[in-house]
Amino acid sequence: MRLLITGAAGFLGSHLADRFLADGHEVVGMDNFATGSPDNIAHLTGNPRWSFFEHNVTNFIYVAGPLDGVLHFASPASPRDYLELPIQTLKVGSLGTHKALGLAKAKGARFLLASTSEVYGDPLVHPQPESYWGNVNPIGPRGVYDEAKRFAEAMTMAYHRYHGADTRIVRIFNTYGPRMRERDGRVVSNFIVQALKGEPLTVYGDGSQTRSFTYVDDLIEGIVRLFERGTADPTNVGNPNEFTVRQLAEVVVRLTGSRSKIVREPLPEDDPKVRQPDIARARERLGWEPRVELEAGLRRTIEYFRARQA
Ligand code: UDP
Repeated sequence: MRLLITGAAGFLGSHLADRFLADGHEVVGMDNFATGSPDNIAHLTGNPRWSFFEHNVTNFIYVAGPLDGVLHFASPASPRDYLELPIQTLKVGSLGTHKALGLAKAKGARFLLASTSEVYGDPLVHPQPESYWGNVNPIGPRGVYDEAKRFAEAMTMAYHRYHGADTRIVRIFNTYGPRMRERDGRVVSNFIVQALKGEPLTVYGDGSQTRSFTYVDDLIEGIVRLFERGTADPTNVGNPNEFTVRQLAEVVVRLTGSRSKIVREPLPEDDPKVRQPDIARARERLGWEPRVELEAGLRRTIEYFRARQA
């Protein structure tokens, strides 16, 4: 297959590119480096099945030649990033999704949207099945991301229903692993970097809020299966093992052998109190479930950040 990945220089986009290249496919990468990094794709230079174009996919996307798939991963995705880039976040989720769908339609290519557990907002149903419509504040600080992704899902379903486009929607839950940015503000990267530097780990609020953390390799496997043999229905991909943020801080301190203290900082506005995917659909339709336990995944991620600090 010949596949376009938008956001190919990002955390997930670059892992996805690696995986499709390893499977023998041809990958065209696109990124404007708003939050992605050339470091994440530097190792692909010289691979004859890899090509890269610096482009903002909010604007018309031109790709020469045939395409079998378009995977739309371009977007700021950490709360800190989308608070700093609110308009870009809204544009890439709305205009960028429209452009990517238009390209997929023109090429007769399958389309996959990287959506998010944020479509569930601060959920009133727990764990979250795909049938849950969510509890989102449209005008709060996170609304720029949540509503852009909800619009993107609506646009994807419209192309599916009205143009007969072959589409997929993956709802991605908190994912961690190598190539997260040191300063993207997400909890796993923050805690690991703080612990390695001997700085205090910043728990927001009382740390009783929960998240369910998926190791990147598990996530990529789920996405590839959804792309290759899934259906148009939105599909949660995430690890149902749920931890409080405080528990995560304690595990990171233990695994790094750090002497860092754990301190409290104010809870950001509209921070979801709980989050856990219901993955019955992915299990039944894709035969997928996560394999990497939190501690094993954290050890690999700690190694990555340790190597970068050395
Ligand atoms: N969080 C924290 N300390 C940090 C960064 C994040 O306690 O240094 C909390 C944050 O308030 C949230 C959870 O960790 O409850 C996950 O935050 P993240 O930014 O990783 O992503 P989210 O799941 O909120 O989109």
